[in-house]
Order: sequence, then structure tokens, then C-alpha cells
Amino acid sequence: MDDKAREILEIAKKEGVLFIDLQFTDILGVTKSVTIPTSGLEESLDRGTWFDGSSIYGFARIQESDMILRPDPNTFRILPWTRGNAAGVHARIFCDIQTPEGEPFPGDPRGTLRKALAHAESLGFSYNTGPELEFFLFRNGGDVTEAVPHDIGGYFDFSPNDEAERVRGDIVNALQALDINVEMSHHEVAIGQHEIDFRYGNALQSADNAMTLKYAVKGVATNHGLFATFMPKPIFGINGSGMHVHQSFVNLSDGKNAFFDPDGTLKLSEVAQQFVAGQLAHARALAGVVAPTVNSYKRLTPGYEAPVYVCWAQRNRSALIRVPRYSPGREASTRVELRFPDPSCNPYLAFAAMLEAGLDGIERKLTPPEPVTDDVFHWTREEREAKGVDVLPGTLEEALDELEKDDVVRGALGDHIYVAYDRAKREEWEEYRIHVSEWETKRYLTSI
Ligand code: GLU
Ligand code: MG
Repeated sequence: MDDKAREILEIAKKEGVLFIDLQFTDILGVTKSVTIPTSGLEESLDRGTWFDGSSIYGFARIQESDMILRPDPNTFRILPWTRGNAAGVHARIFCDIQTPEGEPFPGDPRGTLRKALAHAESLGFSYNTGPELEFFLFRNGGDVTEAVPHDIGGYFDFSPNDEAERVRGDIVNALQALDINVEMSHHEVAIGQHEIDFRYGNALQSADNAMTLKYAVKGVATNHGLFATFMPKPIFGINGSGMHVHQSFVNLSDGKNAFFDPDGTLKLSEVAQQFVAGQLAHARALAGVVAPTVNSYKRLTPGYEAPVYVCWAQRNRSALIRVPRYSPGREASTRVELRFPDPSCNPYLAFAAMLEAGLDGIERKLTPPEPVTDDVFHWTREEREAKGVDVLPGTLEEALDELEKDDVVRGALGDHIYVAYDRAKREEWEEYRIHVSEWETKRYLTSI
């Protein structure tokens, strides 16, 4: 047992933690949890905990259902909302999943991201991400479809002692208690919409944090009689919720930001430009992973600050990749922001796919097109095509067809995950495709 494991055993004892939630994520990005009594923690840290994966989608066939959860001691956190619980305080640990032979299980999204990170490391880089999760808070009317946004605030609005302020305050406190360093939280553009940004870090840690943020936000909202949704476009006609991801590389050799070059285009190094070129080249297939629901494509439409076209720019928020400004002297914060992911994605798979797309640009030494300077939404189709600017897929089905054709993005997921993922997502699409919606009956019932 290493020092870290010993340290958490001590904390668990000192803080009176009675239960440990061993957590992992299925391929669709749902958090799964197996609870053990704290008395079993030492054994679990030493040898792992066996569990039956056969009932978890995309995990294993019946004949190979037993798998091992390997707790990652760095992710041990006491769940603040269970403090004072009569039934006992819980802590959680994220786990990696192994096969009975002790190999990384190919259906484990966390393991998939680890693999992509190892690829970047073999080229001398570590990959940092800073996701910005947007979400809506609704009143808990019982029926989700009848929910109404609980406030009438707008972008950066401040109303002291308003309900949303109090909820956001509680969410931020819960996140800080979970060791997530919240840098900013604010009201977003739409009614009832909010955003919480935490400090960037290694992509594995950021993906763990994004998962944690989602359940913490939902838990705190429930305590206030509200519910939180990360659905990308819950309301037609107003902004949807994105999960923009700020990305950068650090050189393993000298610890410096590998994306910065004072003489490069937009002050980006050659590596950064190739990374951008790779993500643009694979953007249409990436959509199938970073915008993975039927609803994601209702968000990726013109007019709501979400991207539609495959281009990059310095300021333009309609671009797929934006290069944010930073203050002089803060070269370490050079980064590129990918704007089409949304919070319905599985962050482990999204980061793995985004990284492999970028690395492909580096390995093939791709050159990105010129960054755009005007608002792409104002171009005609002809102008856009003349400049070689592609469009993102308009539906989940189109995105899945692109994913199917793209060896790099598919390769990032690996065969095991890709096959299960494609099956689940095609089923989702088919169910939607044959559904007769209210829009259709309104439009056609009496007019035809
Ligand atoms: N909510 C917008 C989106 O769907 C983004 C707004 C912003 O720029 O933060 O991506
Ligand atoms: Mg935002």
C-alpha cells in the first residue's frame, strides 16, 4: 500500500466515514456507484473490488461479466451533502476497471482517456482541459415537461438574495468541499441558465471534476426544491447549454505551455496550429462523441452563440474553435477553446476523441485554414463553400455516419466502446425518427 492509500484510510477513520462509493462511468456518461463499508476500503485499495458488469450497458457479455474496480486514491473525497447524515457519511473514489486478468478493461471510458493521454505523453506532451458547464435550473413541478425556469435573470445578472444566487452559492461551496477549484460562476444568457467554471487541469482530473460537478449540481438543486438539467437545448428559441472546453499542452521536458509562440499566427506555436488543424479535420466525426444526443443538434443552430461551421477564429463566438485573449505576461494560459461539446457528452470519451483528433494533426503536420475574421453566419452558402468552410452535422444520425468513417476518432474510442456506443446511439436516433411530434401534428393535422 502506498502513502496516498494510507493517508485516505486515516482521513476516512478520522472523519467518521461509514461508506465508500466506488464510482465509474458507463459509455453513455452515466455515473455508476457500488457502495462498500469503510472496513472494506483497505482490501479494495490493495486488491480491487469485484463487481458484475453484465447489467451495465456496453460493459460485458454474460460469460465475462466479472470485473475489478481499482480505486484511484487521488480521487477520494468526502461527499459534503452526506455529512451529518443519520445513515452515515459517504466518501467517493473514482475507479479504473480491469478484466479478471488484471488488464485495463477496453469498455472503461476512464481507461480510454488514460490511453489517449499516454499517446500524448509519448510525443512529449501532457493535455490540459478546462470545461465550462452550462445548465438550467427548473422548478420541481413533478412533471419535467411542465417545468418552468425559476428566475428571469440574464447574462451576468446580479440580484442579491435571489434564489438563484443562493443555490449557486451552495453549489460552489459543495464543489470547493469536493476539492474542485471553482474560478467563476455566473448567470448565463437564458432564463434560469447558469454556468460554473473550475480551474483547468490534466484532462483525467478535469473529466472526473465534470462528472462530480454534474451530480453535485443536481444534488444541491434538489435540496432547494429545484432540479438541474444539462440537456443541451431544453427550450426552443433561447440559448442552449454548451460545455466549451479550453485546451492546452504542456511540454513534459520543461513544463512550459507548448501552445505559445510569440511569433506564430494568433501567438500559437506550430504544435498548437497542427492540433487545431487536426480537430477541424475531424470535427464532423468528433460531433458524434462531443454532441452525442438527438437534442445536441437542436443547440448547434445559428443565432444562439453555439457553433455551426467548421472554422476557427480569435474572437468570434460562432467559430468552432476560438483562441481566447490573455493578459501580457500570462503566456502560460495560451489555449484553444473548442465550442461544440455539450454537457450531455461523456467527458472521458469526449476528451479522448478530441485529443486523438488534435494529435493526428500534429503527427500528420497539418496546416489549419486561415482563421476567420467575420461573422460566418452572415456568409452566403457560396461564400462559405468558396472559403472551404464545412458545416457541422445537422443531426445525430449524420454525426454517427461521420464517426463510422473516421478511423482516428473511432480509434480513440476503441472497437469495444465504438460498437456498443454506435448501437445505443442508432437506437436513440431511430426511436426519435419514428416518433410523431407535437410540431408535426400542429403543422399537418388540420392543413392536410
Ligand atoms: N450557451 C451558448 C452555447 O450553447 C454559449 C454562451 C457562451 O458563449 O458562453 O454554447
Ligand atoms: Mg457560457
